[in-house]
Parts: sequence; C-alpha cells; structure tokens
Amino acid sequence: MDITKEQEEKFKKLGIGSYSELTLIVPSAYEDLRLHNKLQTHVMQLIDATVESVYKSPNSLQITFYAHNFGHTITGVLFRPKPYMIHQFNVGERDYYYGMIECKSGFCSMSMPKKVTNVGKITPRYKTQLRTDVMLRLVQMFITKENLLSEGLKEEVAEELLKIHFPAQEPVNLKKLESKTLNALKYVELFTYMKQLSHKRRYFKSITSTCQDYKKWAERLPFKLTYEQINAIEDIKKDLLSNISAKRMIVGDVGSGKTMVILASCVMMLPQRSILMAPTTILANQLYNEAVKYLPDVKIALVTNKSKKISLDAYDFIIGTHALLYRELPQASLVMVDEQHRFGTAQRNMLEKLVNIGDKKPHFLQFSATPIPRTQAMIETAHIDVSLITSTPFKKDITSKVIHKKDFKELLEHIKSEIDYGNQILLVYPLVEQSEVLEYQSIDEARGYWENRFENVYVTHGKDRDKEEVLLEFSKKGDILIATTVVEVGISLPRLSTVVVVGAERLGLSTLHQLRGRVSRTGLKGYCFLYTNKSESERLERFTKTISGFDIANLDLKYRKSGDLLKGHNQSGSQFKWIDLAEDEDIVKSVKKDCFLS
Ligand code: ADP
Ligand code: MG
Repeated sequence: MDITKEQEEKFKKLGIGSYSELTLIVPSAYEDLRLHNKLQTHVMQLIDATVESVYKSPNSLQITFYAHNFGHTITGVLFRPKPYMIHQFNVGERDYYYGMIECKSGFCSMSMPKKVTNVGKITPRYKTQLRTDVMLRLVQMFITKENLLSEGLKEEVAEELLKIHFPAQEPVNLKKLESKTLNALKYVELFTYMKQLSHKRRYFKSITSTCQDYKKWAERLPFKLTYEQINAIEDIKKDLLSNISAKRMIVGDVGSGKTMVILASCVMMLPQRSILMAPTTILANQLYNEAVKYLPDVKIALVTNKSKKISLDAYDFIIGTHALLYRELPQASLVMVDEQHRFGTAQRNMLEKLVNIGDKKPHFLQFSATPIPRTQAMIETAHIDVSLITSTPFKKDITSKVIHKKDFKELLEHIKSEIDYGNQILLVYPLVEQSEVLEYQSIDEARGYWENRFENVYVTHGKDRDKEEVLLEFSKKGDILIATTVVEVGISLPRLSTVVVVGAERLGLSTLHQLRGRVSRTGLKGYCFLYTNKSESERLERFTKTISGFDIANLDLKYRKSGDLLKGHNQSGSQFKWIDLAEDEDIVKSVKKDCFLS
C-alpha cells in the first residue's frame, strides 16, 4: 500500500491492512441527498422548502416549511437547538433541508432538520472507530478500482464493492444485500484472510531432494493400499523430490491407514534418515512394532523416556515420543509428527530445528486424525499443503444410538453379552469428581457400581499419571475401561466393541467421533451409545447417522459455525463476518482457484 504514516495509523485503528479490507467495512446507512417527489414516512429525506414561520419556545424550535418537491406543508421540530442551528431558518427563505420525515393522518413533521448544500449526492455513512468524515475521506481516497485490482481482486468483484461505497443511481439496500453483492463481500473476506495465511508461510531449502520407489515395498504388503493412501503417498513423493522443504498435513479419520503413509514416506526417503514423533509411549511403541513388521530391512530405533541413551547414528528410522526433543539427534531429511494436534506448535517446531542444517530444513509431514471440513482444508492450503484421506481400508460396522435412562437395563445386558464374547467396553464420563452443577455422575460416583458388578474394571483420566500403564494393562486384561475423554487419541484396542458416552450432548461432534473411532478398529462389529438426559437432540441424532469424519466435520460446522483457523483451535462463533464455511463452498473454491492455484 502506498499511504502516509498518519493514514497507516487510521488503518490500524480500523484493524485492517489493505484496501480490500477497507471495502469490507460496509456503510451503516446512506445519506441520500437527491430530491424526490414522493413523500415517504419514516425515511430520511430532502426537501426543497420555503420557511413560512418560525416559533421559538424555551426548549424547542418549530418551523413551518412548505416543501415544494412534495407540495406539502411539513413542520420541522428541533429540540434544544444550538444557536447556530436557529440561524439556519429564516422566514421567507428557500433552501434545502434534510431530516427524518414522519407523517400521521396527513400531518407531516421532520425532526432535527438540517440545512444542506451538496444536493443530488448519495453519501455513505460508516460506524467505525474513526470520525465519520475521516472514514469517508479514507474510503474516497483509497477504494478505487485501480487499488483493488492492484491487490489482486478480480474486476467483477472490485466493481461490486465499488457500488457499495460509491452508489451511482440507487443506494444499495443495506438491509437486504443482493446476492451478487453479498458474494463479493464473502469473496473479499476470504481472499484477504487467505492472503494473510499465505504470508505466514516461509519457504526453506530442503536438505535432500531425492525419492526412492515405494511400489515394490507396497507390493509386498499383505493388503493393497487404498486409493487415497496412494494419493497421499504420491503427494509426498512430489514433496520429497523438491528442493523446497515440504510442509504438509495429512488428515485422515481414525483407522484410515495413516501409518502406512508414514512407512511409505520412510521407504521413499531411504537411504536418508527419517524421524517420527508420537504423543504417547504406547503409540510410539505401536508405531515401532508396525515399522519393524513392515520395514524388515530398515534399521529402526525407539526413543522413549525409558529407552537407553545409545547413539542413534546407525539408524535409518528413529521413532519416539517427545523424549526425542531432549536427545542428541543425528541429521535427518524427513521429520514426521503423528497425531500432531496432541503437540504444541513449539514442540513440533523444536523437533524440526533439531535436525536443521544451516538454513536448510528437513521435509516436514504432520499427521492428524481430526478430519476438517473440506472448505477448511481448502483454506489451510494457503499456508500448508494438505492431503486428505477420507476413506478407511475396511468398512467400519458401528451402530450408533442415542439412549436415555429408560434404556439402561438394555445397555447393561448388551455390555454383559459383549464381555462374554471377549470384547471390551469403554465408558466415558464427563468428570472425575462429583460436581454440583452437572446432572451426570462423575467417575468417582459411578466406578463403585461397575466394580461391584463386573470384574476387570479399569479406571483412568486425563490427570492420571499412570494412564499409559492403565491403558496398556486394560488392553491386555480388561473388560471395562472407565475414563474421561483422555482416550480420545491414538491407542489401538482391537477388542474394544462398545463405547458409551455419558452426557454426550455436552461434547462436540468431533470429540464424539474420535471416541466412536476407538471401536471397530479392525472390523469388529462396534457400538456407540450416546447417553443423554435431554429428551431430544437433533445434533446427536444426525451424528448417529453419519459415519465419515469429514461429514461429521461438516455437520459440526453447520451446528457450530466455523472455528478459528489462524490460531489453530476451534471456537464457537465465526471469525468471519460474511462467509459461512458450512454453506459457501463454491466461494471458497473460487478464491482458492483465483489466487492460490495448486
Ligand atoms: P490411523 O493411524 O489412520 O488411525 P492405522 O494406520 O492405525 O490408522 O490403520 C488402521 C488399521 O488398518 C491397521 O490395523 C492397519 O494395519 C490397517 N490398514 C492400513 N492400511 C490398510 C489397507 N490398505 N488395507 C487393509 N488394512 C489396512
Ligand atoms: Mg495413527
């Protein structure tokens, strides 16, 4: 932008940084100083009037106008007029006056009439931090077609916006914007947002730009990779061949087979070294075991708090928990983070930095089991490359059902019979300790009931320091696991057939989906029961009928509207004023296509 310091301050005050963003501040009203012949009531209007009489009382001024344009007498009323106002009205003079006209049974009045001169103009009025005239001047100076085009907006969009700020014949109906206008605002809103996102991305040289074939390895697997696994692997292949270090997020539902994508990436990277970080010891172990199983020729190391501090130089693939961050790491060309949302940004970046070589960076892949709405994925591509895995290798057969107190007996029978089959049950409670405000039992209140009726009941929760051991023991010997939502991520419990979520309506659909994803991981018939005291919940009912995590994410979006992408965490309420990520996929697509071709 080409502006002075003073003007820059004003932009800052408005919270904006571009001309395009200035156009998004839509007028609150227009001052329409055109002379009309049709008298309307409850409308600010201009009159061409002769003052016929002026009557002063201690508190007010009453003027009788003859309005030539309407051919009607109108009484002007000023309450507590300032001296300069009084001088505007002289008997016998003809001038233009502007004010709110109201008519009742043929009697018309204009409150606070104001003498005006720039007749014929339509002027927008803005409600901002700035004074009206200051804001107006900014708009007039900077919202030009040239400026908007220079920021990369399309001509048709720019023109639509100009109409709002510089109405030609007719002012835009601000109460009910035409869809063309509304779409232009949505477009610009997203356009400026994605621009900002893309400025956040930094490009670095990669340490290596080589890639081995993965197909021979894939042929030896006991199963065929799914179409979407292959797509993700092909995306990564292109990344690895580039001399710009990759920054990609691979998003796939729980059970979509992301581990194979991780292993394929390691294969392609050979003979260069890869490092993989996982959020828990159990997961790191699990990944290690799978790696050992499917990569028999690769030298693989496992690094956790418990592992010995041997030198890692001799290994091609180093798998570990955040314990990796406190180890001397050998140089690596590829860094991967599984279940990335379990780590803070700082931790993720730290790992990457540990293996930098000067200004060169390793390729960096993050894996996430939190499906995001398609629209959000498209937006994210402005600052990070995204691959989606929307299908699972085998169909999950999970029956989901909303249940109430009256269904408890039936639930109990179901639990008994599942345990008889050798299957496991997960009971998720909203809280650990008793609470006055919550109408559901806590873990402390409920555990006795289960422990008295069942054997092999295990209990854990988020603050439980031993939760990893409890989970591990449960996986081997348990029948029932009582927990809070801590089990949300990661571990594979192949015998888990049933999850019961108590107070389900309190949780977001994505969380519920994560919990449901714990069962039926390897094709076992699964059940998900949502226990609620609410007699009706459309949201929960819709959830029971939706299986794909990506559809859930879209559903969640519809109920919650969009979250906060820049900060990376979701909040209710949208950061966007105009665009609706649940509805406006076409607009998201066109912004992406126009500005971020990929
Ligand atoms: P995610 O990490 O995405 O949650 P996993 O990688 O743990 O999922 O995969 C879930 C299960 O599916 C694992 O048991 C894995 O061996 C299996 N699996 C992965 N890919 C395939 C495939 N293409 N065909 C059949 N099974 C697969
Ligand atoms: Mg996984």
